[in-house]
Amino acid sequence: MSNSTAPRGKLIVLTAPSGTGKTTIAQRLLKDRDDLHFSVSATTRNPRPDEKDGIDYHFMTDDRFDELIKRGAFIEWESFYDGTRYGTLHSEVDKQIESGYFILLDIDVKGAWNVKQHYGGDCLSIFIRPPSLDVLKERLKQRGTENEESLRLRLERASMEMEYEDNFDEVVVNEDLEAAYDQINSIITRFTEA
Ligand code: ADP
Ligand code: 5GP
Repeated sequence: MSNSTAPRGKLIVLTAPSGTGKTTIAQRLLKDRDDLHFSVSATTRNPRPDEKDGIDYHFMTDDRFDELIKRGAFIEWESFYDGTRYGTLHSEVDKQIESGYFILLDIDVKGAWNVKQHYGGDCLSIFIRPPSLDVLKERLKQRGTENEESLRLRLERASMEMEYEDNFDEVVVNEDLEAAYDQINSIITRFTEA
């Protein structure tokens, strides 16, 4: 039986063009704050060397992803780059939100906009902006995870994503990591304590 007097949790969505630094910031927030629970997304891309299944993503085949779509398992999902799919699972969000937790999502701009539309005031959406596209390119190269083609696709998509920043509750520029982190942490505290 559900407890109607229990406080309902809320969502905090970090979004940004790939390579801006949202995973770096999300991981640090999760280390520093025990009031946040991460929503582990599903994806059809291959794991990077340092990534673990069930921790960074639920890595899966296209067939499995299709099956989950059919079952209605996703709150939202998107297909981009070369057809790689990413999605937010109901199972990562629904129970935790009912239990009153704050759930942190690290998702792309379109997914973030869909989640914001769905959850309204129960969702804080933060767009993280890179200082420039040139800096973004350098960060993606430095991360060492992309080949020439995937780098090109990510940068192409980044130009489109940058045009969406006005759709989000807050915009933070990630130039200096410490400054951006402090700013985001304070924004989240204002939201969780409101
Ligand atoms: P995203 O999750 O948005 O794709 P990442 O968190 O993987 O981005 O960051 C991309 C790369 O940029 C990583 O190598 C990370 O260490 C680096 N990075 C993140 N923030 C900064 C910053 N403020 N200055 C320089 N490098 C950064
Ligand atoms: P990466 O391959 O670099 O881990 O992620 C690529 C992009 O997919 C990033 O912008 C990341 O935030 C986004 N992403 C990760 N999970 C999800 C998700 O569940 N839904 C959507 N829409 N995007 C996601």
